[in-house]
Amino acid sequence: MRVNKSDSAIPRVKCVVNTCRYYSSGDHCLASQIEIQPPNANDTEQTDCATFSPKH
Ligand code: SF4
Repeated sequence: MRVNKSDSAIPRVKCVVNTCRYYSSGDHCLASQIEIQPPNANDTEQTDCATFSPKH
């Protein structure tokens, strides 16, 4: 899911994925919106951010 990059961080979201194009220092996410997948996940390992996009 490719979305616009915003000037402000998403409140209440801490993300440490510093290789993402939406990542901002301080563990903030600048994506205009994020999508987390998948449905019916059973543990933390199974969940991930579908909006992630590599910096380069
Ligand atoms: S889009 Fe997802 S992986 Fe990328 S900084 Fe935001 S929350 Fe983290």
